Amino acid sequence: MPKIGFIGLGIMGAPMACNLADAGFDVVGFNRSRPRSDAFEQHGVKLVASALEAAAGADVVATMLPDSPDVQAVLGELLRATRPGTLFIDFSTIRPDVAAALHQEAHDLGLGLVDAPVSGGEQGAIDGSLSIMVGGVDADYERAQPVLAAVGKTIVHVGPPGAGQTVKAANQLIVAGTLQLVSEAIVFLEANGADLEAALEVLGGGLAGSAILERKSAGMLKRQFDPGFRLELHHKDLGIFMSSARDLRVATPMGAVAAQLVASMVARGHGGLDHSGLLMLVDELSGRPKARQSE
Ligand code: NAD
Repeated sequence: MPKIGFIGLGIMGAPMACNLADAGFDVVGFNRSRPRSDAFEQHGVKLVASALEAAAGADVVATMLPDSPDVQAVLGELLRATRPGTLFIDFSTIRPDVAAALHQEAHDLGLGLVDAPVSGGEQGAIDGSLSIMVGGVDADYERAQPVLAAVGKTIVHVGPPGAGQTVKAANQLIVAGTLQLVSEAIVFLEANGADLEAALEVLGGGLAGSAILERKSAGMLKRQFDPGFRLELHHKDLGIFMSSARDLRVATPMGAVAAQLVASMVARGHGGLDHSGLLMLVDELSGRPKARQSE
């Protein structure tokens, strides 16, 4: 089976690397700090001490890192150190222009590269059911298919290099806006003394239904905001979205409000909470602060 060097074993990368090993790939992983997960051995993922070591002799190098500078730093080191023909799959959410530039650099060196940001959260990563939006040339996309199929369920080639990141930016706009509206609905229903479980059940069955309502509302009702997807990462993603929309002169008033609310949560020191923690802000703005619970 092809060898995969997997770099970035955090909330998302750890279960993805394990799923790849379960699918039969020979997976060698590296994380800068000691990874939180201890499942690697059990799944047959071998941990090494550097990104270079993980990428040595790999057919595919996968990255799942926080932000654009992280991917630039790691690929800056690896692109020139890997053998020609190596395929890079960047699962991280980064800026579309950075993804396109990295692709150009890789191709100039005889390497393949696709941007393959994901949606579906930690649970999607654990279940291997991520939605993956892929940008890249046809040949690289075809080569990436078996790897993508081991971690995702909905896999779509959305366009040229960088296009995956553009679609992911739109994804993050929709997720933040929806979380904010679900938060406001919850506080509104609570203030009315409504039966929350009954209300959310029926809302979920109609046009207001969404994956957010389905997967996040139970934790939100309990004010459990352990991540999941950290607000500081969503702040990064809304920065990518807003800057891209501004360049294109696209008006996004709702997006701007959502970006400001997320920025406020990060500024108040809550960047490490799950993005459903937007509910805390609605609680406070409504004069109804609630104690946060841990899982
Ligand atoms: P995370 O912080 O849990 O994981 C990132 C990991 O990368 C960390 O373990 C960190 O130590 C490691 N790292 C950072 N720099 C490194 C380097 N130079 N070399 C090796 N390791 C390094 O973040 P995450 O939640 O797993 O998110 C990763 C990416 O996926 C982000 O771009 C995020 O926006 C995106 N994403 C996250 C989710 C989610 O629900 N958590 C969902 C979809 C997309």
